[in-house]
Amino acid sequence: MTRDLPDIPPASAFFFDFDGTLAEIASRPDLVSVEQEVRDVLQALALKYDGAVAIVTGRPLEAVDGFMAPIRLATAAEHGSIRRDSMGVVHFDEGNAEAVAAAHATLGPFVAAHPGLLLERKRSSIALHYRQRPELAKSCEEEVQEVVAKNPGLVILPGKMVFELKPKGVDKGEAVRSFLSEAPFKDRTPIFVGDDVTDEHAFEVVNSLGGLSVKIDDGNTLAHFRADRKGLIAWLFQLVARDQK
Ligand SMILES: [Mg+2]
Repeated sequence: MTRDLPDIPPASAFFFDFDGTLAEIASRPDLVSVEQEVRDVLQALALKYDGAVAIVTGRPLEAVDGFMAPIRLATAAEHGSIRRDSMGVVHFDEGNAEAVAAAHATLGPFVAAHPGLLLERKRSSIALHYRQRPELAKSCEEEVQEVVAKNPGLVILPGKMVFELKPKGVDKGEAVRSFLSEAPFKDRTPIFVGDDVTDEHAFEVVNSLGGLSVKIDDGNTLAHFRADRKGLIAWLFQLVARDQK
């Protein structure tokens, strides 16, 4: 059962997954929205913790910025292959662009033949969404396995009603490490909050560094704590409201 979210060191750094964590999952990825209280609490957290607040997501950078507007946080997008640091500098890891393009070319006709499936082309990864055709999970899986067999530079990341294909060696754990190597995240205790399989890499890294890992909702996890979104937001407001460091 849930352990209460704990108190944290004054010098903490926060990392949040986006879908299912900061935003409720919607029937289509473009339909999510972020509650105003989430923006408010993130802004207050960033103020209180010297800007050490980042989003770590599989989404493209522009998509997250669009949902979060008007606030703009440090963000690792596409699982970390694109990363905007706290100074606003964007770091690219083009990874395996050709393999991603080949995967897109193969999956395009499959998606076109199955209405309701959605292929999301990102800069250095690709996502096959089947939320509206859950009965096609197995076919989708076989299709992405075939793509990876032909493009060994890619790996499959299964998520909630989605299979993502991304270059090997890119994951949310590495994204967290990159942030932690630079100001204002450096030398702080990392806290990672996420809800999906792809967040496990980050939980592992944060646990190994003596940080705090929080899993939203159910599912097997390496995270040490669990919460639901409501509990998470309430906890963040408490952290913001408590006495200054
Ligand atoms: Mg998520």
